[in-house]
Amino acid sequence: MAEKHELHQKGLRLTPQRELVLQAVRELDHATPEELAEKVRQTHPGINLSTVYRNLETLENVGLVQHSHVGHGGLRYHAAKEKLHAHLNCESCGLLIEVPIEETSLLTESLLNNYGFHTDLAHLAIAGRCESCFAKP
Ligand SMILES: [Zn+2]
Ligand SMILES: [Zn+2]
Repeated sequence: MAEKHELHQKGLRLTPQRELVLQAVRELDHATPEELAEKVRQTHPGINLSTVYRNLETLENVGLVQHSHVGHGGLRYHAAKEKLHAHLNCESCGLLIEVPIEETSLLTESLLNNYGFHTDLAHLAIAGRCESCFAKP
């Protein structure tokens, strides 16, 4: 099994809970911890939210999952992908669009040049309106 191998390489034991949490992150993509807990409970009814949080933390520490803040501080987890991406979040309909991090380079480079600030746009969703919500009266 691929996950087992990955975790072993990182010196982490694959507990059934960890495996379920990782699978849930990969399946749901950009899910909240609550949504992930609900998903895991379908096969592992006893698991509680704090256990899910703990497992997410462990998986994030070894680089298998990442979180991003979407909307009003809501955490969403996605599986670590080969390419970093930024998130665009529509505040009207909740749509979440993934964009390659390069798309944000104009902004991040000017912030770096003008303020010496290293912006991490993968960590925070960019708020706004999607095309169709913007078109509504
Ligand atoms: Zn993402
Ligand atoms: Zn929208």
